[in-house]
Amino acid sequence: MPAHSTAQPGAAEREPSAPPGTLKGRAALVTGSTSGIGLGIARGLAEAGANVMLNGFGDAAAIEQLRADLAARTGVQVHHSFADMTRPQDIEALVQETQTRFGSLDILVNNAGIQFVSPVDEFPGEKWEQIIAINLSSNFYTIKAALPGMKQRNWGRVINVASAHGLVASPFKSAYVAAKHGVLGLTKSVALEVVETAITCNAICPGYVRTPLVEGQITDQARVHNKSEADVIRDVILAAQPNKRFVEIDELVGLVCFLCSSAAASITGSALPVDGGWTAR
Ligand code: NAD
Repeated sequence: MPAHSTAQPGAAEREPSAPPGTLKGRAALVTGSTSGIGLGIARGLAEAGANVMLNGFGDAAAIEQLRADLAARTGVQVHHSFADMTRPQDIEALVQETQTRFGSLDILVNNAGIQFVSPVDEFPGEKWEQIIAINLSSNFYTIKAALPGMKQRNWGRVINVASAHGLVASPFKSAYVAAKHGVLGLTKSVALEVVETAITCNAICPGYVRTPLVEGQITDQARVHNKSEADVIRDVILAAQPNKRFVEIDELVGLVCFLCSSAAASITGSALPVDGGWTAR
C-alpha cells in the first residue's frame, strides 16, 4: 500500500516521489490537502524538501497531528490554514500568509474539489455555484494572488488538479465536468501569459482515485443500483477506465514532483491524463 494512500496515510516505507532535497528552499501551497490526493501531494512535496502550507477542512486536532508529524518526519516547515475556497478574501489571505511564513510561494497546487451527482434539470443551483467556486474559481483567485511573486522571482510552478472529466464528460456531473473543463482553459491561458518566464502552468487529469470523494459515490451508487460495493466499483466506477484499477495517489505525486523539476521546464499549458487509458478511447 503506497504511503500516500488515504487508506494508510501514515505509512512511510516506500521510495520517495522525488529525490529528497530536490525542492529544498521552495515553498508550496496545496489547497484541499487535509485528505486524499492533496494530502498525498503535500507529503510528496515535503519529502522532496519544500516547505508546505496545508489547507482544508476536518477535525482540528487530527489536522494538527498530521501537520506536526509531517514536519517532524521531513524536517521542513509545515503550516495549515482553514481558508475556505468558496471565499475570495480567504484565498487572498491564504496566499499572503504562505508568502509571509515562507518568504515566497513557488509551487501552487490547486487541488481542493467537491463532487455532486444529479440530473441537470434537478441539479440544485446552490450546488452548482459551490462546485464552480471550489473546483474552478478558487484556481483563478489563487493564481491571481500568487503570480506577482512568481514573476518577481522569475520561477514558479502552478499545477491544477483537474480530472479526466476535464477532457470528457459523464452524465449527471454537469457542474463538475463544466468546472474541470474550465480549469483546462484557465491553465492554457495562464501558461501563455507567462510563457517567456520560468513559470509553468499545467493541469493533471486523474481517472478514479480511491479517496473519500469517490467512496461517497461508491456508497450512493450501491444504494441506487441495489448492488454490492464491489459490483459498483467494477460495473459503474471503473467501467470507463480500461486498466480496471484505481489510480494510486503516488502515481499523481510522482507527476507533480516531476513537473516541479527543471526537466519539466518546457511542459506548460498541458493537460496530462493519469487515467489508465480512459481518455484514449
Ligand atoms: P477529498 O474529498 O479526499 O479531498 C478534498 C479536499 O478538499 C479536502 O482536504 C477538503 O477538506 C478540501 N475542501 C473541500 N471543500 C473545501 C473548501 N471550500 N475550502 C478548502 N478546502 C476544501 O477529494 P480527492 O478525491 O482527494 O479530490 C482532490 C481533487 O482531485 C479534487 O479537485 C477532485 O476533483 C480531483 N480528482 C479526484 C479524483 C478521484 O477519483 N478521487 C479524480 C479526478 C480528480
